[in-house]
Amino acid sequence: MFEQLGLIGCGLMGGSFALALKRGGLVKRVVGYSKSPSTTERARQMGVIDVEAPSALLAVSGADIVLLAVPVSATEATFKAIRHLITGNMLIMDVGSTKRDVVDAARRVLRDHIGSFVPAHPIAGKEVSGVEHADPDLYHGKQVILTPIERTQVTHLKRATDLWEAIGCQVTQMAPEAHDAAFAAVSHLPHLISFALMHAITNQPLGRDFLSLAGPGFRDFTRIAASDPKMWRDILIANKHELIEQAKIFQRSLANMLQAAENSDGEELERMINLASLSRANWRMGQKK
Ligand code: NAP
Repeated sequence: MFEQLGLIGCGLMGGSFALALKRGGLVKRVVGYSKSPSTTERARQMGVIDVEAPSALLAVSGADIVLLAVPVSATEATFKAIRHLITGNMLIMDVGSTKRDVVDAARRVLRDHIGSFVPAHPIAGKEVSGVEHADPDLYHGKQVILTPIERTQVTHLKRATDLWEAIGCQVTQMAPEAHDAAFAAVSHLPHLISFALMHAITNQPLGRDFLSLAGPGFRDFTRIAASDPKMWRDILIANKHELIEQAKIFQRSLANMLQAAENSDGEELERMINLASLSRANWRMGQKK
C-alpha cells in the first residue's frame, strides 16, 4: 500500500494507472499534474486524482510513488522539473513506449537518484488518448515490460513488480536496448506501415472511392492508423535507429514477395504466404515461442 501517488501526465495511461491503484486499495491519495490545467481539473472531477498540483514538482512533493505518463519527448524535462524533491525511498516509474531514450534521460538527470527509477512499458493502450478514456481495467491481464539498469535498486524493482502484478499484469524484464529492438519490429514498424498505407491510398485520385469499398480485413489491418499523431511522432523519432533496421528487413521481404508476383512465381509466393500464415496462426499474444 502506497500513501501518495504523484501522477505526472493525467491522460489515458496515467489516469488508468491511478484508477487501477485506487480500485485495488493500493494507494491512499493521488496528486496529479498535467500540462494543461483543464486536463488536471478534468482528472479531479472524474475522481482519477484527488488533488490538483500546479507543477510537476509539487505533484511529487510528499509522494512515495511517482508515475510519469507523459509523451516520451517530455521525459527529460519532467525529470529535471522533479529531481530536487526525489528521495531514495520514492519509487519512480514511467510508461513510455520507448525505453533507451527514457533510460538515457534518467541517467543524465537523476544521477544519484537513478536507483529509484524503474522504467516500465505496459503493453496496453487504446487508439484514443486523454483522461476521458481512462479505464481501471486497461492494464488487467496485460504484459508490462520493466527495463531496469545496473543501478536500479533491487528493492524498488521488487516494489514495482509487485504493484503491476497487483493490478493484474504479467511482468517481464528486458534490457532497454532489447526492448526497443523488439518493439520496433512488433509495434513501431507496424504503426508506420499502417500510417503509410492510409497515406498512400488517400493521396491518389480515386483513393476515397477505394476506401468506400474496403472491408473487415482493411479495417483490422489499419486499426492502429487512427492512433494519436503526437504520441507516435515521438515514438518513431525516439526509436528511429531500430525502426530503420526493421524497415530494411521488411523492405527485403516486401521486395521478394512483389518479385514473385511479378514473375508469376506461384510456388514461391505460396511458400512465403504459407510461412506467414502458419506463424500468424500459431501466434498468441504474450506467449513465448
Ligand atoms: P495522453 O492520453 O495524451 O496523456 C498524456 C498526458 O501527458 C496528457 O494529460 C498531457 O497533458 C500530459 N503531458 C504532456 N506533456 C506534458 C508535460 N511536459 N508535463 C506534464 N504533463 C504533460 O497519452 P497516453 O496515451 O496516456 O500516453 C502517455 C505515455 O504512455 C506515452 O509516453 C506513450 O508512449 C505511453 N504509452 C501509450 C500507450 C497507448 O496506447 N496510448 C501504450 C503504451 C505506452 P495535456 O492533456 O495537458 O496535453
